[in-house]
Amino acid sequence: MAQDIEETIRGFFEDHLGKISCKGVLGYAKFKDVYDELMSIQQQRLKRISADKFDELVESGSIISFGIAYQDAAIDAISRTKEDGTDYELWNFYSREYDRLNRLLNQTAQAIADRFNGIPITATLNGLSGNVKHVTDYYGLTISHRTVAEMAGLGWRGKNGLLINEEFSCAIRFASVITSLTLASPGRIGSQCGVCHACEDVCTFIRNRETLPNYRENCRKYLVHLQSEGLTHEVCGKCIRACYRNSIFNEQFNLE
Ligand code: SF4
Ligand code: SF4
Repeated sequence: MAQDIEETIRGFFEDHLGKISCKGVLGYAKFKDVYDELMSIQQQRLKRISADKFDELVESGSIISFGIAYQDAAIDAISRTKEDGTDYELWNFYSREYDRLNRLLNQTAQAIADRFNGIPITATLNGLSGNVKHVTDYYGLTISHRTVAEMAGLGWRGKNGLLINEEFSCAIRFASVITSLTLASPGRIGSQCGVCHACEDVCTFIRNRETLPNYRENCRKYLVHLQSEGLTHEVCGKCIRACYRNSIFNEQFNLE
């Protein structure tokens, strides 16, 4: 019975991907596993979103994690140079794709929630990097979709802090749907990064993440800088392109 509903949700998602001409992944995490893993400010947010269903969800609920992958041309547009310097016009192809995927994720989360009586958690917030004082100001405003995807076994947490899926690398964005359905979850996959250091090679913040007070704050400031240079959204993506194109898994990853 549980297996039937898992397959029905997966089938619904795959049909939806076909309609929007995208590739993606879907998996199931136990609600409690995600809750236990979140930082306390996000636990409070998850509790608020769940409202009077919280106790039941902790007992037997799940969170559906799903991701939509980028086109590889968008990843290849990241941080390229032309004769007179960085090609921000090309980089904006990736920037616009980031925004398009967020909108598709939000629509898909709503569609899954409507069909299976769930609660959608939309994709990461846009437009705040320049308006917050510190990256920690973000933490209470969202639920980490990476944590949900990780607890759903959709990949491992890479050295770049992103979820690395075995097919799409980290060139994929996630959203989630809370459900009171009890769905089987494979749980977390341990890191497979091994000796790879492609993301560390392209980003000094990742390379020095152990010694910096909070390398994500350095990243946030860099995103603000890139927007001042002409990017249309709060993106960088250099560590994504490095993982997809230059990591030890580059032959295995495939967005085409
Ligand atoms: S997005 Fe850019 S600045 Fe941020 S961690 Fe990745 S490569 Fe570094
Ligand atoms: S580039 Fe290599 S080390 Fe970095 S996240 Fe990807 S697989 Fe891991």
